[in-house]
Amino acid sequence: MSGEALKKYREAGRIAAEVRGEMRKYVKEGMPIIDVCETAESLIKELGGKPAFPCNVSINEIAAHYTSPPNDEKIIPKGAIVKVDIGVHIDGYLADTATTVCFNPQYRDMVRTAEEALHKGIEIIRDGLSTSKFGATIEKVIRERGFKPVSNLTGHMISRFLVHAGKSLPNVSHMFGFKLKKGQVFAIEPFVTEIDSVGKVREGKIVTIFRFNKKKSLKDLYSKKLFSFIEKNFRTLPFCERWLKNVVPKQHFSKAFQNLLSSKCLFGYPIFIEASNKMVAQAEHTVIIKENGCEVLTEL
Ligand code: MN
Ligand code: MN
Repeated sequence: MSGEALKKYREAGRIAAEVRGEMRKYVKEGMPIIDVCETAESLIKELGGKPAFPCNVSINEIAAHYTSPPNDEKIIPKGAIVKVDIGVHIDGYLADTATTVCFNPQYRDMVRTAEEALHKGIEIIRDGLSTSKFGATIEKVIRERGFKPVSNLTGHMISRFLVHAGKSLPNVSHMFGFKLKKGQVFAIEPFVTEIDSVGKVREGKIVTIFRFNKKKSLKDLYSKKLFSFIEKNFRTLPFCERWLKNVVPKQHFSKAFQNLLSSKCLFGYPIFIEASNKMVAQAEHTVIIKENGCEVLTEL
């Protein structure tokens, strides 16, 4: 990795860590979810970064991938388990970090377990470690504390302008792993759920986060305009409808956006819901793998 790239990764990580800390203090029961999303995204910009993806605010059995659509009226319910997931990039070099705010004392242990599993991951990750060993260790930490890892949600390799750069970092024991290499950037993110749950997520119907999929020639003027805005501003990074305000006249937006989806120019990420509707906690840091360990980018 070049010195310039490293500097940008570190800066993205520092901003992401600061925003995560601020959001932990900011999130309250009864608050509109859209306030959390918009406050986090504004703060990222104030601190000199750009959001690498929309701020995810995923509540209770929703494990990931919810951000507020425009004019969202949903609020944070009483006793909620709130996962706030933040991405920041500087020139495409990105950091991904998440925390769980817990308003129900009954789930405090579960939330703590996600943090402990994350810290175990940080402790063991290093050049040459196999992902099988990594996953087995994380699973052990979670099970020893009486919880279950969500088996089909994983950490992931990160590269420039790519949140998921092709390689997954599972949180469960698995065969056919691969060896982690120094210089690689990875998000470590255990998801923890209740012991009597299925321990898997399914896709929900709600889709609020999107990404560029493929280039196509478009006839419709407004679809064209919208698509070129998306390509120019977000490239291969995820975005949401809130970020597309005033790109085309209001009355033409819906049709143009639907057209981009149906023509597969864009890809939508459905929300992930725990398959037995059990509560889910998450903790996440981005690290650079080193010879004898790692550098955590998203810690202050
Ligand atoms: Mn994340
Ligand atoms: Mn991630």
